[in-house]
Amino acid sequence: MKLLFKNISFLYTFDEKIGDIQNGYILVEDNVIKDVGRNWENIHADKVYDMSGYIIIPGFVNTHHHLYQSLTRGLAPNKKLFDWLVYLYEIWKFIDEEAIYVSTIVATAEMIKTGVTTTTDHLYLYPYGNNKIFYSEIEAAKEIGIRFHPTRGSMSLSKKDGGLPPDSVVQNDDEILSESENVIKKYHDPSKYSMLRIALAPCSPFSVTPNLMKETVHLAEKYNVLLHTHLAETKDEEEYCLEKFGKRPVDYMEELGWLNPNVWFAHMVWLNEEDIEKLSKNDVGMAHCPSSNMRLGSGIAPVTKLKDKIRIGIAVDGSASNDTNNMILEIRNAMLLQRVKYGSNAISVREALKFGTIGGARVLRMDDYIGKIAPNMAADFIGFKLDKLEFAGALHDPINAILLCDSKHVDFSIINGKIKIFNGEFINFDIYKYIKIHNEISQKIINKALS
Ligand SMILES: [Zn+2]
Repeated sequence: MKLLFKNISFLYTFDEKIGDIQNGYILVEDNVIKDVGRNWENIHADKVYDMSGYIIIPGFVNTHHHLYQSLTRGLAPNKKLFDWLVYLYEIWKFIDEEAIYVSTIVATAEMIKTGVTTTTDHLYLYPYGNNKIFYSEIEAAKEIGIRFHPTRGSMSLSKKDGGLPPDSVVQNDDEILSESENVIKKYHDPSKYSMLRIALAPCSPFSVTPNLMKETVHLAEKYNVLLHTHLAETKDEEEYCLEKFGKRPVDYMEELGWLNPNVWFAHMVWLNEEDIEKLSKNDVGMAHCPSSNMRLGSGIAPVTKLKDKIRIGIAVDGSASNDTNNMILEIRNAMLLQRVKYGSNAISVREALKFGTIGGARVLRMDDYIGKIAPNMAADFIGFKLDKLEFAGALHDPINAILLCDSKHVDFSIINGKIKIFNGEFINFDIYKYIKIHNEISQKIINKALS
């Protein structure tokens, strides 16, 4: 099936050779972009879409999330990370397969609506050893049709071992390793244009044993999958690591074999110059989560200092600390927050959008097929209508309007060659039935925790 998107008013490909095109076209064959250019007159296609009045850019890549947290938005609104976690674990311990399925649909729908075409997830708690919740989120992602790179997360230190979570949500190292191997074998598809890849992700240095961190590296090497965890998120974490391990978080990761090119870390707010050099030397990637960092008062990650040294993507983080899945807002916040600390030219609109697209693709090691618009890339791109109320007066250089104005949501989205949103509406997908069930589950698990 060939789809021709012609007459695109402003096409920003983020491909260095192709650059920006006014009045351009994109030809899609099945799930892949076949051609991009200016003259479409002699091109034949099965379906032709007139995209005059649209800005088109590559789809966004979200590099860190906890999809289930959409069930618990707006709670513990004034707490810092460790206190916030302790409060929410008592609710999260009631999540089950249905809760995960429905929250995955709701969170990914909000992401697709705000431009995400590829997302990861970090599911790290398994109440009462229920491994099936991970399978459940994969089924939900397949249903909605987002390109998915979830991580099989884990926690092995509960309150009785000096950790933060209750005993009921952690597993022991052997269970975690054997199930991690199981899901890689069952789901991981390393092929080009893959819609489903798996990474491994112990939750954080303070929630698993050093043994599990090391063994997870070996398992990831054996199957050539990526590794992910939270790192250097708060000052409290730095103090905890210094007290418990006698090392700063980045040094502790180095000792465990976690500074390598297959790793990306979420947050990395508390870094010194030495940390930055180590991360750069080892080609480690970063998921920058500015809204969560602001919401929990964690601090400002030194993205401006890091941007020429490591691979950087943007991430909404879990919806309990954001409390949206809005990727447009996240990329805007990334740009604005750097300016608070480093000045008005710290991060430009284009730089921020590149972090949100090709940057995220590099972090997930998928930049051979997502993150830009060019021949042989996957057909994942998004569009904004130029005649939006919110863009009025900002059309002389429309790329700026996407982040400097209030874009609200995308008006067009195609993922893997399938149109998901047209004229601002989901195609063949009823999100409202899921919102109703999602709210019922949310109320049920919160009531259980309170009773
Ligand atoms: Zn997180």
